Amino acid sequence: MVLPYGRQSIDESDIEAVAAVLRGDWLTTGPAVDRFEQDIAAVAGVSASVAVTSGTAALHTAYAAVPLQQGDEVITTPLTFFATATCAIWQGATIVFADVSEDTGNLDPAAAAAAVTGKTKVVAGVDYAGHPIDGPALSKVAHDAGALLLEDAAHSIGGSLDGVPVGSLADVTTFSFFPTKNLTTGEGGAVVSTSTEVLDRAREFKSIGYTRDPEKWHAKGDQGGWYYEVHNLGLNYRLPDVLAALGSNQLHRLDAFKKRRQDITDRYNAGLAGIDALRTPAHREGADPMWHLYPLRIQDGRRRELFDHLRGNGIGVQVNYIPVHWQPYFAERGYRKGMCPIAETYSEQEVSLPMFPDLLDSDVDRVIELVREFVGA
Ligand SMILES: *Cc1c(COP(=O)(O)O)cnc(C)c1O
Repeated sequence: MVLPYGRQSIDESDIEAVAAVLRGDWLTTGPAVDRFEQDIAAVAGVSASVAVTSGTAALHTAYAAVPLQQGDEVITTPLTFFATATCAIWQGATIVFADVSEDTGNLDPAAAAAAVTGKTKVVAGVDYAGHPIDGPALSKVAHDAGALLLEDAAHSIGGSLDGVPVGSLADVTTFSFFPTKNLTTGEGGAVVSTSTEVLDRAREFKSIGYTRDPEKWHAKGDQGGWYYEVHNLGLNYRLPDVLAALGSNQLHRLDAFKKRRQDITDRYNAGLAGIDALRTPAHREGADPMWHLYPLRIQDGRRRELFDHLRGNGIGVQVNYIPVHWQPYFAERGYRKGMCPIAETYSEQEVSLPMFPDLLDSDVDRVIELVREFVGA
């Protein structure tokens, strides 16, 4: 049996929540979506959220809702899942990669500030591994540029910085509910924002572009009960009720997930401390991370060997991430290796160890032993 690097935790209460929807009247957008959107908003410390079909859909919806337009620039980190960048390109923007902080692997506010131009419309940070971005510093960079701060919080729902929950740190925040993430709906995601205009546009975009509010219609007066208008292009990114019910039930378990993830992190940290070749994840003061990954760095140039050693012993390690600007799509458009040296070095040293709530202490200890044996500690 291969130990995966991440996986969902589904219990009987989750199964019951989904079965209850299947016995009811609604499969897609109905009462379970409304409830889930309120539940997400509560965790994020905002008044409303928009549920969508994936974290990728959440990013696309968020960028459309800003709204990004042809020629706008988005400053982001290369140490992320590539959708953080590519979804902005769908809306016509140009990506400008800025380097990360050496400790957390999160977008470095000074590097982001140096990348600002007159065209900057969004600064997009990522809560790498679940450690929150420096929201105040990045907000200042974005707002000084007349731009918005977007936080890709696919790793970090339930975390906080200086008591401010993830979801309230940036102008727009996106979540993913993919099975390896901190809670799951199978596929799913959400957008939250401190701006009601952004949220309204997000709701319209994920509903194919329907403008539901008669106040906004061009036609005035009673147009008949069948009437609607389309003002902007949208897509169908609606999360079904069946999945939203799973999400709401998973949210009841979020505190327990968070505690278990912290315990696993502490166990790895203790077991791998004080070894020259290794670097355990940084944890900044004031940050209360929701650990999605355990990103270990090996600094003796033997990442490939360690990775293969662990995989060879049935440990499903992962690398998060290949720097986005190294991908052929970007390389063919003039992005070059060496542009973001700190992120590139981070990526070349990184191995994500197994991390999920149902992971046993004995499994954590086995991984620690294998790593220690490899580095001769
Ligand atoms: C998982 C992830 C996404 C995409 O989410 P999906 O639900 O898989 O579409 C986006 N950004 C980051 C940082 C992620 O980890």
